[in-house]
Amino acid sequence: MKGVLAAMPDNIWEEDSSNHPFAVLVAEDETVSRRLLERMLQTAGYDVTVARNGHEALALFEARFHPIVLTDWVMPEMDGLELCRAVRARLNEEGYVYLVLLTAKDGKEDIIRGLEAGADDYLTKPFHRAELIARLKTGERILRLERSLKEANERIRLLTITDALTGCYNRKYLDEMLPGEIERAYRYGRPISIILCDLDHFKDLNDVYGHQAGDSVLRQFVRRAKAGLRSRIDWVARYGGEEFLIVLPETPLDAGLAVGERLCGQLAETPVELHDGQGVKVTASFGVTACEPGAGEETPSYEAVLRCADERLYTAKRAGRARVVGARFEAGR
Ligand code: GH3
Ligand code: MG
Ligand code: MG
Ligand code: MG
Repeated sequence: MKGVLAAMPDNIWEEDSSNHPFAVLVAEDETVSRRLLERMLQTAGYDVTVARNGHEALALFEARFHPIVLTDWVMPEMDGLELCRAVRARLNEEGYVYLVLLTAKDGKEDIIRGLEAGADDYLTKPFHRAELIARLKTGERILRLERSLKEANERIRLLTITDALTGCYNRKYLDEMLPGEIERAYRYGRPISIILCDLDHFKDLNDVYGHQAGDSVLRQFVRRAKAGLRSRIDWVARYGGEEFLIVLPETPLDAGLAVGERLCGQLAETPVELHDGQGVKVTASFGVTACEPGAGEETPSYEAVLRCADERLYTAKRAGRARVVGARFEAGR
């Protein structure tokens, strides 16, 4: 799973529409062949980079990921087999690298050696232009398949951490990520505020307007909450039912209270519009707790921090709802 700050896209079904030409890295020591390959591949629409030996190719590869590498076998400094091994040995997080070996060696044993070094395919010299392009197309099919599987995996990962009704993070994500956020705050002596929000008399709202209206209010609550937050830093998770947690890293109590007050006021002032156009007045109560770690202070448990926010929320409810109650986190409460 990526870091806490991994942004949640607005539409998790958005396709990666990037249809850029594939970047091909060519390693060939013979000038004429190299120029020929470069021109041929450019004409076929590839984004081509050329190198004069394996060593140079590896440096170029390290500077920029190339999903396709076309390499000659016999070259000075670093040959094609070494290049294949070096590329395979790297942790290529960007994706799979399709390696094609160009060689004058066409004995069975040579071919086996080439494939064992990590090549996906090979072409014997002198190569045939149409065959070269056809083989690169095979590589592209594999790379595209890999790309679409990765995108599908990413969508599934997002689904597992997303609340289906409101689109904010779910409880699973909260449980996984909040301890780390608190840990980080204490390690670096940075403040962090968390706000537990609970919609007021929500059961009555459901009873009067119906469950669908209730759902729509939950969605709009999240939309409003998110709109007032710093993107990629603050985040919202559904704690359960009509309760949400807002996490504000790098935020001391005064700023945490201000975020709660703004949302509380905005909610109370602007009725939520239902599908039939009627507006319904919705309020919520907010319990804020801010951790402002001092030097050497021990990291509290995630449960202790939540309990603290919950106590303040309870105080806000008892004091009449539609309000914010907050205090610094105190260990040992
Ligand atoms: P309080 O002000 O004390 O918080 O009162 P409340 O009515 O909001 O609290 P209570 O815990 O009694 O009721 C919570 C209600 O939230 C009951 C439940 O049906 C409703 N609820 C929980 N999840 C959903 C949901 O996904 N959709 C809808 N429409 N309602 C939900
Ligand atoms: Mg050569
Ligand atoms: Mg509740
Ligand atoms: Mg409630």
